[in-house]
Formats: sequence, C-alpha cells, structure tokens
Amino acid sequence: MARVYNFSAGPAVLPEEVLKEAAAEMMDYQGCGMSVMEMSHRSKVYDKIIKDAEADLRDLLNIPDNYKVLFVQGGASLIFASVPMNLMKNKKAGYIITGQWAKKAYQEAKIYGEAVELASSADETFSYIPDCSDLDIADDLDYVYICENNTIYGTKFAELPNTKGKILVSDVSSCFLSEPIDVTKYGMLYAGVQKNVGPSGVQVIIIREDLITDDVLPCTPTMMKFKTHSDNDSLYNTPPCYGIYICGKVFKWLKNMGGLEAMKKYNEEKAAILYDFLDQSELFKGTVRKEDRSLMNVPFITGDADLDAKFVKEAKEAGLENLKGHRSVGGMRASIYNAMPKEGVEALVAFMKKFEEENK
Ligand SMILES: *Cc1c(COP(=O)(O)O)cnc(C)c1O
Repeated sequence: MARVYNFSAGPAVLPEEVLKEAAAEMMDYQGCGMSVMEMSHRSKVYDKIIKDAEADLRDLLNIPDNYKVLFVQGGASLIFASVPMNLMKNKKAGYIITGQWAKKAYQEAKIYGEAVELASSADETFSYIPDCSDLDIADDLDYVYICENNTIYGTKFAELPNTKGKILVSDVSSCFLSEPIDVTKYGMLYAGVQKNVGPSGVQVIIIREDLITDDVLPCTPTMMKFKTHSDNDSLYNTPPCYGIYICGKVFKWLKNMGGLEAMKKYNEEKAAILYDFLDQSELFKGTVRKEDRSLMNVPFITGDADLDAKFVKEAKEAGLENLKGHRSVGGMRASIYNAMPKEGVEALVAFMKKFEEENK
C-alpha cells in the first residue's frame, strides 16, 4: 500500500486513523454483523452514530443550545438556493463576492429575490478580501452572505464583515473545523464536508433556532426547508448515513488531536512552512495578498504556464498529488487541510526547492 501526499481541494485527504478504523469496521460494525452502509437509519445502532456525531461537533465548536445542527444532502451548491428560500423574508439580501463560490451563491439568490452586491474583489482576480468594516447595508436586507474561505483563490476573511446588525450567513466549507470560531457571530454557517471533514454527500448546517420557521418562500421543496430537517433531527428521510459516520470519526479524531485550538496551531505551523518558502523563493510566487492568506488553500505560480505544468507533472511522480491550480486561476494550489500531515508540507517544500534549483 502506497499512500501519496494528496493536496486535492476536495474531496480531499482524510486522517489515516479514520480510514483504518472505517476499514476495520467495514464488514461488521461493532459486533452487529453488518456494515454501517447496510443498516437502517432508523436502527438503534445508527441513532447512536448520528447523535454522537452531533454531540462531538457541538463540543468541538462549542455550539450554544439555541443553535441547531443539521446534516443534509445536495451539496453546498444546493444550499446556495436553500439560504434565500428559507431566509429571504423581505426578498432582499447582501452578498460579498470574494470568488466563484460566493458568486454562484449570489447568482442563485437572484432567482428568488433581490441579491445586492455589497463588495467584491473581482477586480483583482479575487486575490484579496475587500474591506467590509463599513458596508452600505440597507435596512431591509434579510442577511449578509459571505464565503469565508475561498477554496479556489486561497483567501480567507481574517475578520468577519460588519453586518450592522443583519444576520451573517457564511459558507465555511473549506475552513470548517480548521480553527475555533465564535458560532454566536453567525445566524447560519454551513459546510460541504468533503473539503476538510469527510466524504462528499454531507452538508453540515449550524443555524440559530429562531431562523428556522415555516415562513419560507412559496414552492420551497420540503427537503429544502430547514424546518423539515430540524423537526426530524436530520432523519426526515434517509440521510447520507455512511458519510455522517465518517464525519463522526473525524470529529473524534479532532478531539483526540486536542480540539480546534490545537488544530489551529498545527495548521498555522504547516501553512507557515509553505508561505515562508514562497516569500523568499525566486521561482515561485504566492498569488494572494499576505494579510488575506488562507491556512487551507495555498495557490502559487511560477509565472510560466509551461513550467507550472512541468512542476505539477514532476511533483506527481514524486508522490505529491493534485497540485494543479483551479482551471480558472491556473498555476498550482496546495490544499493543506487538517488531515495533511506536517511531513506532507515539508515534502512539498523540499520538492519545490529542488525544482527551483533545477529550473532557474
Ligand atoms: C467546494 C465548495 C462548494 C461547492 O460544494 P459542492 O458540495 O460541490 O456543491 C461551495 N463552497 C465552497 C467554499 C467550496 O469550497
């Protein structure tokens, strides 16, 4: 068995301990004679799996009692629609456009009401986070929406926007559980777990209870009403059972690692290894304004598309996989999520040094 260092942006690297545990439990989950994939979501055994997952997540993020945790399907992209359907009471919301995912959410919201662009960094290929300390926020906005960590461009909000009292809705897909956050600053946050937490197919929504109502846009499908999932503890219909089980294992792994404070420290150490190298390299260059750099996704370029392609190819041969940048940015991108060990980042930087020597 040869594992590579996998720098994929998502689906992405998962902790080896979790994969091994899942493998060991594949044929017979804790003596019940079947795989988690094969059991009823209404069974006692599964009920414990989903309840434990929620409890561990609440522990990790210190989620207050007046926030609900929902496990839903459909991809983060479906939540782009659920947000306006459930939260646009005045049919008007503000969007901060910091990349493709924010833009897609904004465009989706326009189907259901008036989506207002509050700020954007499109003018410089989303390489920075706009100043959001004093935005022009109309009184009748239902919420302010952000994509907190921009997976494609490698930027992250170092500070949350000043929403002037409006509800903040945040897509945290690619920074979920990478560091502690104050949940009370959000009306709702959500993540597709395939970036930093689990396999694709599960979205975690954390939402303040008073925002879950029957007052949704007409024609909102039952499955897209937050209330449906909230009223049924995420078991209205068959949930993505196996994915939730893996997420639960990752939550336990994070607790064993020391929780999110420890994870943040580890992630900062890992990112510093790569950014420090980029800052002194004569060949490679980071593409993001320093103060807006993500700890999770690190895009970089040589400035020469052929050389970039050569780098990606040779890196792959050296066991460093999925370093090609997103098709809209080019160059390279190293996603160094929670489960990427420090040794992986060190191996990447050692390879970059060698490549720089050979190609300068
Ligand atoms: C990947 C990603 C999405 C889209 O996720 P899907 O589950 O594929 O719909 C949305 N937002 C962010 C920040 C992402 O990284």
